[in-house]
This record gives sequence, C-alpha cells and structure tokens, in this order.
Amino acid sequence: MSRIAFVKDALSPGAYVPRSRAGVSIEDRGFLFADGIYEVCEIRNGGLVDEQRHLERYESSLRSLRLKAPMSRRSLQLVLRETVRRNKVQNGVLYFQVTRGASRRDHAFPPASVSPTLTVFATPVDVAARDAKVASGVEVITLPDERWARRDIKSVSLLPNVLAKQAAQDAGAYEAWLLDADGNVTEGASTNAWIVMDDETIITRPLSHDILPGISRSIVLEAARHLQINIEERAFTIAEARSAAEAFLTSSSAILLPVVGIDGSVVRDGTPGPVAHRLRAYASGISQISDAHLPSI
Ligand code: PLP
Repeated sequence: MSRIAFVKDALSPGAYVPRSRAGVSIEDRGFLFADGIYEVCEIRNGGLVDEQRHLERYESSLRSLRLKAPMSRRSLQLVLRETVRRNKVQNGVLYFQVTRGASRRDHAFPPASVSPTLTVFATPVDVAARDAKVASGVEVITLPDERWARRDIKSVSLLPNVLAKQAAQDAGAYEAWLLDADGNVTEGASTNAWIVMDDETIITRPLSHDILPGISRSIVLEAARHLQINIEERAFTIAEARSAAEAFLTSSSAILLPVVGIDGSVVRDGTPGPVAHRLRAYASGISQISDAHLPSI
C-alpha cells in the first residue's frame, strides 16, 4: 500500500502526497539548521494516544522557539486524524514536525512573511516485536551526555546558534560571543573569537570540542606567524575582551571583521585596530583560490 504524507510549506497550501515523493525545499531551515520542533504520538486502534498532552507540548515548543503555528489547533487535529486514516494505521506512530520554513540561508530568523513548514506522516509498528521486548526487557549502555557539546563538528544542529544570532540581531549587534560556565568566550554563533593585547599578542581559544576549527582561524594564525605577531591559544574572559587593545572575529564569509563594541561597551576607541587590519590584509593574500576549472592531471 502506498503511504501518504501531509506537507504544508511555501510551495503547497497543504496537501496529502505519496510519502515516497513528499519533500520540502533544500533551503528549509529544518534541513539547514535543525530549526524546528516535532512530536511523536502513539497510534492505538486507529486513535491518537494522549493527543492533548502532545498538542500542549507542541504548542509550548512553538512558543519557546518563537515559531509560528502552521495552522490552528483544530485544523492540525483534522490533518493528524486524516493522515492516520489515509494510511490505515491501526497501531503505530504519528510523526509531525514544524520548521521555520524555507528562506535564504542566514542564521537569524527569516522575514515574517516566510511560512512555517508542516510535515506529517504515520508509520505502523510491529506490535509483536514490541510486546516481545516488553516481555524480555532491554539493556542499556552509559555514555557522557554530549548533546550540544560537540561544537568541533560542523554539524547542522545549529538551533542554539540560530537563537544566539537572533538575540544579537535583536540587540542591534552583528554577532553573539558565547560564554562557557567559567565566563570564558568559546566562539561566536557562526565565527571564531579573538582579542589583541596591548603588546599586540593575539589570543584565541585552543582547538577542542568547545569550538569549530574555523578555516579562517587557521589562515589568520598562519598570517600571524608570517607577520611575527605573538600568538597565545588560550581561553580568555569577557572582562579581558572588553579591556583588550583590539578584538575581532573570523569566518569564511568575511575572513576577519574587527569588533568595536562588546555588550555595548567600546573596544579600543570604537574603531577597527591596526593588528586586525594587518592580519586581514595578509590573510586575504595567503588564502588559496582554486582555478575556475579543475586542471587536467
Ligand atoms: N564557529 C562556528 C560556530 C561557525 O559556524 C563558523 C562558520 O560557519 C565558524 C566558527 C568559522 O569557521 P570558518 O572560518 O571555517 O568559516
């Protein structure tokens, strides 16, 4: 039997479509940033188990992420039931997900005109296999809780970065510098963070699970070595950053941008500093630019 999914997004006002062909834009923020929420609800004898509790948690998740509801609660309930009915699922799970919609890739929230995406599908479960596990019990292993803690991986789990970038934008700033439990700067929401001391030593956090190993970070370190600028790879506090001679951030989209204010207080005299300027100029020069066409071997 062909399975049916429901999709409502910028391109579709809401339609039941064959599940194998159901899809959303590659620019959907769920796909790009994990900028979305979901619910999974048990289907028992064709009905939804604890539907009210799931809808309450769903609405709470929407509020927490400032996500627009894709439709009214009542319309959603109709769609959930219709998806179960069309798939003739008696026992299984119902999955529904809402994302902040499809828009040009940018961490901060898209314009208010962008509609959220809603997808719904229902899948039967093997009741006998589940009952066998209930009868036998299951084993577990233990692992360190590393959820949100592997910032060194360039993963699309970017929801915290999205929220930080939006908070920066709400405050009229370009970027948010993120602090660890000790008040040290880890990195920006989408950039690496640097400060410059009075003797022109540059400081940036060492590579670890705490930061993304930025490509521009490595180029700027190389530039500093060429320019014989002292480098200290160590954690620095936000207080040090505020009183630093200069500060800057790095990322592939701009190589290096001088930071002239932190939390509203001026860095230096509020203008870009000479070390940032020299590093940017040198780093631009040593970056490798590929040929437009791959040369033949
Ligand atoms: N840190 C984070 C969290 C980022 O997302 C990025 C870039 O997207 C960077 C740092 C800078 O990395 P790169 O210089 O490779 O662009």
